[in-house]
Order: sequence, then C-alpha cells, then structure tokens
Amino acid sequence: MMDISGVNSIACKPKIDYVACNCCTTCVELCLHGAIYIDRVDGYVKINYAKCRNCGVCIKVCPYGAIKCFDNRHQWVPTTSSTVSAD
Ligand code: SF4
Ligand code: SF4
Repeated sequence: MMDISGVNSIACKPKIDYVACNCCTTCVELCLHGAIYIDRVDGYVKINYAKCRNCGVCIKVCPYGAIKCFDNRHQWVPTTSSTVSAD
C-alpha cells in the first residue's frame, strides 16, 4: 500500500493523546482504512489496530497534534525530522 502521509510507515504506530484531542473527528473521516472510530460507550475517539495500516495519515491531519507516532518498542518518534519526507 502506498504511503501518502509522508510519515515513515514502518516506524509509526499511532496513539491518541486524550489531553490534546478535541474530538473533532477529522481523523475518523480521513483514515482510509476505517481504523478510527468513536467509542459509543465512552465517546472517545479510538484506533482499531486490527484495521490500522500504520500509514500515518491521522498523525499528519490531526489539527491539534493529538495523534503521535510510536515505534515497536513503544517509544515516541517525533514526526518532524527523520520520519517525514522532504517533499
Ligand atoms: S495510521 Fe493510517 S490506517 Fe492507522 S489509524 Fe492512522 S490513518 Fe488510519
Ligand atoms: S483529529 Fe485529533 S483532535 Fe480530532 S478527533 Fe482525531 S485525535 Fe482528536
């Protein structure tokens, strides 16, 4: 699958920062794989990792910077330097 995000898809597992999240649902609308949804029980936006393809689009489109990239050792990976392509 083509990575259209500019974020390194191998290094990137998205996680939502609920302090920063404003529940705007932009990520829900723009996830191409239907992996982000609104939990009807608690109202929080959540990621279904069984559907997530690690494309990084949600990280890029969140207007509040609330979705962050983590590597497979659960370490935060800044998406402003080596993980973002120059173009
Ligand atoms: S990384 Fe891509 S597939 Fe996974 S939740 Fe974000 S937009 Fe959806
Ligand atoms: S785009 Fe960002 S602020 Fe909006 S619902 Fe998703 S995580 Fe929350």
